[in-house]
Amino acid sequence: FAETTTAPLQFAVTKNLAAKSPAERDALLADPGFGTVFTDHMVDICWSEKGGWHRPRVQPYGPIPLDPAAAVLHYAQEIFEGMKAYRHADGAVYTFRPEQNARRFNRSARRLSMPELPEEYFLQSLRELIAVDGAWVPSQPDQTLYLRPFMFAKEAFLGVRPAKKYAYYVIGSPAGSYFSGGVKPVRIWLSENFARAAKGGTGAAKTGGNYAASLLPQAEAAAQGCDQVVFLDADGNIEELGGMNVVFVKKDGTLVTPESESILDGITRNSLLELAADRGHAVERRPISLTEWREGVASGDIVEVFACGTAAVVTPIGALKGAGFEDEQPAGSLGLSLREELTDIQYGRREDTRGWLYRL
Ligand code: PMP
Repeated sequence: FAETTTAPLQFAVTKNLAAKSPAERDALLADPGFGTVFTDHMVDICWSEKGGWHRPRVQPYGPIPLDPAAAVLHYAQEIFEGMKAYRHADGAVYTFRPEQNARRFNRSARRLSMPELPEEYFLQSLRELIAVDGAWVPSQPDQTLYLRPFMFAKEAFLGVRPAKKYAYYVIGSPAGSYFSGGVKPVRIWLSENFARAAKGGTGAAKTGGNYAASLLPQAEAAAQGCDQVVFLDADGNIEELGGMNVVFVKKDGTLVTPESESILDGITRNSLLELAADRGHAVERRPISLTEWREGVASGDIVEVFACGTAAVVTPIGALKGAGFEDEQPAGSLGLSLREELTDIQYGRREDTRGWLYRL
C-alpha cells in the first residue's frame, strides 16, 4: 500500500457560490461552540488500487455521495485525525506538529488495512483548505479552527476484505474557547463493565469504532453524575479517557503516564511531557494500576491528576468515582501551568524553540 511519490498534488478548486458572507461568518465566529459550524469548503482526494491517490479537489462543503453498499457503512473501515489551526497576532495561521498527526494517521491506516497517505499530501491538504477558508480561523483568544482529516472505504462491495477504493477528506470547524466559564475539574467514572480496547485490538488507532464503543460507558458515566469515563485494561491498569490521555503527578515532581499498546498516542501528552522534562521533571511511561492510583492519592504520593488532548489541552481531574467509592483528587497546578506554556507556543505568544509550529 505504501506510496513513494510525493511531488505536490495539483488541486482543482471549485469555489462555493453559496459561501457565507463576511458578516454571516463573523456572526458564526462570535460563538462557534464545538463541532456544529463548518467552513465553506472541503478537501477531497480519491484512492483506488489502479490509480493510487488521484483527483485532489477543493470543493464546496456539502453532502458526500455514497453507495449504500460502501464498505465503511457496513464494516467501519474508517480513520480520522483531529488538530487545530491557530491565528497569531500578526494574522498568520499555524498548526501544531501536523507531521505527528500525519504519521499517526498512517499508523491508523495500517491497522485498518487502508492505504497510507504520503505525509506531504496530508500537510498539503491542510494548506489547501486554509488557502480558501483561512478567514474561518478565528482571532478571538482561545478560539481555533478545528481540522478534521478523515478517510473511509467507499467501494461498493459487501464482502469482508480491504476495500479497493477510498476517499480522504478534510473539513474545518471553528471552535470556541473550551473553558469559557473558567477551568472546571472533571469528575471521572471508572468503567468496570465496559472496555474501550483490548490487547491486539484497535485501541491505538484513531478509528470510529473505538468512539462508538465508548458511547455506552459514557452514558453510564453521565448517569453517575460524571463528565468522562476512564477505561482499564484486562489487568486493572489505567488506559485513558474516551478522548484524552491521563497523567499523574507525584509528590517528588515525577510525571507518570500509562504505557499501553491499546491507547491513542496523544500528541498533546507527548508535548506536555517534553515541556515538563525540560523544566527538570522526571517522566515515566509505564503501566499504572487502579490500586496504585487510589493508594497514591490516599497516601499523598500522588498530588495531581490531569487529562490531556487536542480539544481541551489540559483538564484537571477533580474526582474518581467507581462502584461503591468516590475519591476526591488533590488539586495541583502543574497541569495548568504546562497548559499555559503549550498554548502560549501554539498561539505565538512564546517562542517556538522546538520547531512545533507549521505555517498553513
Ligand atoms: N485518547 C483518545 C482516545 C483521543 O481520542 C484523543 C484525542 N485525539 C487523545 C487521547 C489525545 O490525543 P491528542 O493529544 O493527539 O489530541
